[in-house]
Amino acid sequence: AILMAVVAVGCSDDGETSAEGGNEGSKGGKVNIGIVLPTKDEPRWVQDEARFNDALKDTEYSTEILFSQGSSAKEKENVETLISKGIDVLIIAPHDGAAAGAAVEAAKKDDITVIAYDRLITDTDAVDYYVTFDSVAVGEAQGQYLIDNAGDGKGIPLYLYAGAASDNNAFLFFEGAWNKLQPKIADGTFVIANSSEAESLKDKAELSRDELGRILGQVTTNWDPNESKNKAQTHLTAASTDLKGDVAILAPNDGTSRAIADVFGTDPDISSFVVTGQDAEKASIQYIIDGKQSMTVFKDVRTLVVDAMGMAVDILKGETPETTGTYDNGSKEVSAKQTDVIVVEQKNVKSELIDSGYYEASEFSGL
Ligand code: BGC
Repeated sequence: AILMAVVAVGCSDDGETSAEGGNEGSKGGKVNIGIVLPTKDEPRWVQDEARFNDALKDTEYSTEILFSQGSSAKEKENVETLISKGIDVLIIAPHDGAAAGAAVEAAKKDDITVIAYDRLITDTDAVDYYVTFDSVAVGEAQGQYLIDNAGDGKGIPLYLYAGAASDNNAFLFFEGAWNKLQPKIADGTFVIANSSEAESLKDKAELSRDELGRILGQVTTNWDPNESKNKAQTHLTAASTDLKGDVAILAPNDGTSRAIADVFGTDPDISSFVVTGQDAEKASIQYIIDGKQSMTVFKDVRTLVVDAMGMAVDILKGETPETTGTYDNGSKEVSAKQTDVIVVEQKNVKSELIDSGYYEASEFSGL
């Protein structure tokens, strides 16, 4: 419980809030919009909290942000806390997309509108909307980057890593990467170094969820830098010298990328590597400036926050939020609003991240 962070903002001074849309107002600690994020242990989600807080400064609605610390039980407890505070809208990035079903079903029973944030909640009807980045495009950008930067010739060793199988996004990222990489594996440009499952599926352009699951089962990092490091060490210990030299590494996000890059960087038989990432975490931007990580996929969290809050406010006003498509969560087609992503490498760190005001130049050295 000590790890739980609570931020309550947005109540106007006279205590009068959310009069629009038939809401009750915030007397007695009523919260209008509850926000639940998966963990403070990854900079990605701390970034989301900070961007929510920036966006919430001007809202007339009362909001509260709770963190689940990588526990579905804690997450359910958070949702119940927010239900008891009278929320009308729940914005939630689940720790485990399937396990979160129980939490949002409890919210639904109370007529709360549920918005899945960044990660889809699967196998339940109790999710109304989804705000997300284009996660297949994230994986495609990673795959394409490896193709464009891993050098010429055939037989380039390719090390594959993926996110947590409890996160629907991990499937979407891998699917996107596979879309790009599979033809280049099939034609011999890349040789898979660390997954017999991927190797046995290399001639299939489209993988089923089950097939993706089999590959993820071998190369998952669980989104954990330590697990990434251990796996990378194991893979390099097992690899024969023809799977070393100049290599390509599909790393699903920045935390795992830095951990894997550190391992590959110290193997004397690895002459060079190209490694992907995602999230534009500050530590990875420094790695990119220093030439230790090749790229990241920048997902501008400011946009996601504005979209989620915009949706919540529309709902509170009794209006129907604007959506751009749907996502199948296994139980229903969930109306979704989707945002594009941007590839960041050494040459565009400044234009994409500094000039756009996302980070300040003084946060990095050697820029
Ligand atoms: C998010 C990524 C994040 C990963 C690990 C994914 O669902 O989309 O941005 O790096 O989870 O937290």
